[in-house]
Amino acid sequence: MTAAAESTVTFEGHFARELAELAVPWQAEDAPNPELLVLNDRLATDLRLDPQYLRSPEGVLLLVGNHVPAGATPVAQAYAGHQFGGYSPLLGDGRALLLGEVTDRGGRLVDIHLKGSGRTPFARAGDGRAVVGPMLREYIVSEAMHALRIPTTRSLAVVATGRQVRRDGMLPGAVLARVAGSHLRIGGFQYARATENMDLLKRLADHAINRHCPSATAAANPYLALFGSVVSAQAELVASWMLVGFVHGVMNTDNMTISGETIDYGPCAFMDTFNPAAVYSSIDVSGRYAYSNQPVVAEWNLARLAEALLPLIDADQDKAVASAVEVLGGFRGQYSSAWTRGMAAKLGLRGNQEDDGDAASALVDDAIAILKEGSVDYTLFFRSLGKAARGDLRPVRGMVRDLAGSDAWLERWQALQPDAELMDTVNPAYIPRNHLVEEALAAATSGDLAPVRRLLVAVTDPFTERPGLERYLQGPPEDFGSYTTFCGT
Ligand code: AMP
Ligand code: MG
Repeated sequence: MTAAAESTVTFEGHFARELAELAVPWQAEDAPNPELLVLNDRLATDLRLDPQYLRSPEGVLLLVGNHVPAGATPVAQAYAGHQFGGYSPLLGDGRALLLGEVTDRGGRLVDIHLKGSGRTPFARAGDGRAVVGPMLREYIVSEAMHALRIPTTRSLAVVATGRQVRRDGMLPGAVLARVAGSHLRIGGFQYARATENMDLLKRLADHAINRHCPSATAAANPYLALFGSVVSAQAELVASWMLVGFVHGVMNTDNMTISGETIDYGPCAFMDTFNPAAVYSSIDVSGRYAYSNQPVVAEWNLARLAEALLPLIDADQDKAVASAVEVLGGFRGQYSSAWTRGMAAKLGLRGNQEDDGDAASALVDDAIAILKEGSVDYTLFFRSLGKAARGDLRPVRGMVRDLAGSDAWLERWQALQPDAELMDTVNPAYIPRNHLVEEALAAATSGDLAPVRRLLVAVTDPFTERPGLERYLQGPPEDFGSYTTFCGT
């Protein structure tokens, strides 16, 4: 029976085969007593992996890397990266393995990757392990992001290994099975470029084109077109983060994908009260990755990608630089238009009339000022505006500080006849709020998964308010204090 279940999907090893210089074949360490904590049935089905098989003893072993399915060649990927602005020539998967690729039901080739599967040759001083709390955190937040229609890696399962792992004290170990369009990162290109092996760099770029922008092959300059497609994807991605108040927390170049998917949910958080300077990571002391810095950091990271691609863009390096600079110059405009478009939708403005554009952008600026000055809850404000568009101004009026100023703003906004239904499809009711995530993870770490499951019910259908989930709508309790996340995940 297990053989039949497994045979419905064939693992492939494109990355391992085509980019052998970047792929170290490796094995996961043995999990002493693996126990499935959460399984994403719907995602498994989309991948043509039978959820019933994944729940079987062999399926659970597959999810921790202790059963290697036919066709799979687990590898640790090599990459470099700028971490907080400083260049590390060799990072790589220190505690993760790419199991291989599978073709999903939509015909898309996706990576299956295991995080927390033991030390690899890239582990340096790390133990190669991950613990239950942070892996469930990645599961919850990535699935919430997907439900918010934000490109992201997906989470297939979290399996507790049955091993105690040393962190601040001993914590239960876990492996996250993650799915992605690919795990190609800017850092991979930096690594390939640094080898000075131009054939490798070209194969990496061709692999990326194949998977993420096949139309680039027809472009006059395919590698410039690849760069342009990453610039566009990242402009859209970061705008979508900004629109939901998401702070990634560790936008190093090894954590920025070529696919334009959000990756590596370490010290990330959603803002409660609006604060452009919001930083949650304990190690980001200078605020490099603060909320409002994210677009600028993305642009900086894309410049590092351009540097790595220069030899492929033009044999004449001056010409290559000029072309890359021109394409990168498009980032700000693309980011701004994605932000403006997204904000107009959040305010329920369809932008039909010509002169509404200027009125809308003034409204956005003034709304941001109201949020900032009043330390207003970002998510609740926009969700409550949907109620205001239906005539109930009380929720919004109850959360602002400058009532007269807000009333004047509301009047100008209502004059543009906002569309409440549109607003409710873009302004989430439920996000993985920090206090809810912490509460759920603390329970899970001591063996109670019920709060994680309830939180997942809320955040995986974020736009539909449902009875019984009232407490998931609310901001943090007063005593929650200032929130800090830790990178030692
Ligand atoms: P991150 O910031 O989580 O994306 O990780 C940065 C680098 O540190 C990557 O090369 C990871 O593989 C590595 N790393 C993080 N935690 C561990 C660990 N516990 N053991 C080995 N390597 C790790
Ligand atoms: Mg990373």
